Amino acid sequence: MNIFFDVDYTILGLDDSLRPGTQETLKQLKDDGNEIYIWSGMGERWEVVHKHNLTPLISGVYEKPTHHFHERLQELGVPVEPDFVIDDYPEVVAAFGGVWVPPYFFKRSFDQEMDRIYRIVCEVAATGTSEDRQYRVKGSTVPLF
Ligand SMILES: [Mg+2]
Repeated sequence: MNIFFDVDYTILGLDDSLRPGTQETLKQLKDDGNEIYIWSGMGERWEVVHKHNLTPLISGVYEKPTHHFHERLQELGVPVEPDFVIDDYPEVVAAFGGVWVPPYFFKRSFDQEMDRIYRIVCEVAATGTSEDRQYRVKGSTVPLF
C-alpha cells in the first residue's frame, strides 16, 4: 500500500522529538513491501526527514492537502493515490482511510501508538478492514464531537 504519514503531532512533537517507535515502524512497513510517504499541511518537510534519518525509508515527501483532499493531489504534485494515511487530523484520515492518532507533543516513555498503527496496517492488509476504533474506512464521516 501507499502509506502516508503526517508530520506535526503524528510523527513529530512540539519539542522536535520523533514519536517513539517511528523509525522502527516505518522500516517494518517498508520491509513488508509498502511504500512510505511523508506529507504535511506545512509543506515539504525534508528537514524533518533528514534530521531524523528517515530518508532511506521513504519514497517521497509532499505537501498535504488540507481541504478538497482528493481534488488537490495533482495540484500538489502527489504522484500516487494514498491508500492509507496516519494523521492526528481526522478529516484527512476519513477522506483516504487509515488511522487517526492522538496528537503527540513531547518525548515520553509511554507511547505505543506506532505499535498500534503497525497492527492496524497489517490487519487491513490481510483482511481489508480493522475493528480498531482508531481505524477509519475511506470516505467515512467524521464525528462532530
Ligand atoms: Mg498533524
